[in-house]
Amino acid sequence: MQDRAMDHVLDIADSYIFTPYVYPASWPEHGALRQILSLWLLTNLGAVLIYLGLGALSFCYVFDHKLMKHPQFIKNQVRKEIKLSTTSIFWMSFPTVALFFLEIHGHSKLYDNISESSLGWSGLFLSIAGFLFFTDMCIYWIHRSMHHRDIYKHLHKQHHTFKIPTPFASHAFHPVDGFLQSLPYHVYAFIFPLHKGVYLSLFVFVNIWTISIHDGDYRIPGPLICLINGAAHHVDHHLFFNYNYGQYFTLWDRLGGSYRHPSALLGKGPHDHVRKLMAEAALAQ
Ligand SMILES: [Zn+2]
Ligand SMILES: [Zn+2]
Repeated sequence: MQDRAMDHVLDIADSYIFTPYVYPASWPEHGALRQILSLWLLTNLGAVLIYLGLGALSFCYVFDHKLMKHPQFIKNQVRKEIKLSTTSIFWMSFPTVALFFLEIHGHSKLYDNISESSLGWSGLFLSIAGFLFFTDMCIYWIHRSMHHRDIYKHLHKQHHTFKIPTPFASHAFHPVDGFLQSLPYHVYAFIFPLHKGVYLSLFVFVNIWTISIHDGDYRIPGPLICLINGAAHHVDHHLFFNYNYGQYFTLWDRLGGSYRHPSALLGKGPHDHVRKLMAEAALAQ
């Protein structure tokens, strides 16, 4: 086998779609140009499918549409969120594909079989915990830097256009902002050993998590409120800016002094605001 620890997705796409139906027979499967083009198509397709598919499911079945009556919900917001997200996914895919290309050519520490890991199955679970800890820490500091006065207006302000986000705001970033916040995901695989299947599953997981912290469902199981950075924490980030920069956990917000207990859990959240306005409107009639 050539020195290409080929990504499983690319292998499958080559066997079933690209080789028989897409590329002319004169384009060899191992050609760099063909690999880059294939990775670019797969990255865009995968990201858009997860974003629009799961985003739409979340918008229909999880997101409470009453939030759209909130005074800070802007005109045509959903359309604006989708436009910014899809544009961002498109531009982000270029540097992302460069990293995937390096990964499939064996420059990362991704491995194929559990037997290749000296720690076996326990190494696999350790790598998942390590991934969550590492990326949560990096995203916290990257996100916090994005709020620096000189950077904010150029890059991160676009994401904060949406004060009461819907699941479609999950990927609505300036492409540079989105790429920088996705960078820890890739960097981890270049520093620490990680199983390829886990790496792919984590790609889906991080996208779902990003959707979930924008889904307007502010409920969190009691014991997890202090630990997990959920939609209730993240909506306060959208509303009050300098709090709750975290991604999965509240750890770094606590260490960094930026933790804010979610207003939605104190009866002062967006739902409460809408309820109050509706009650006032009913009284005025
Ligand atoms: Zn922010
Ligand atoms: Zn957000």
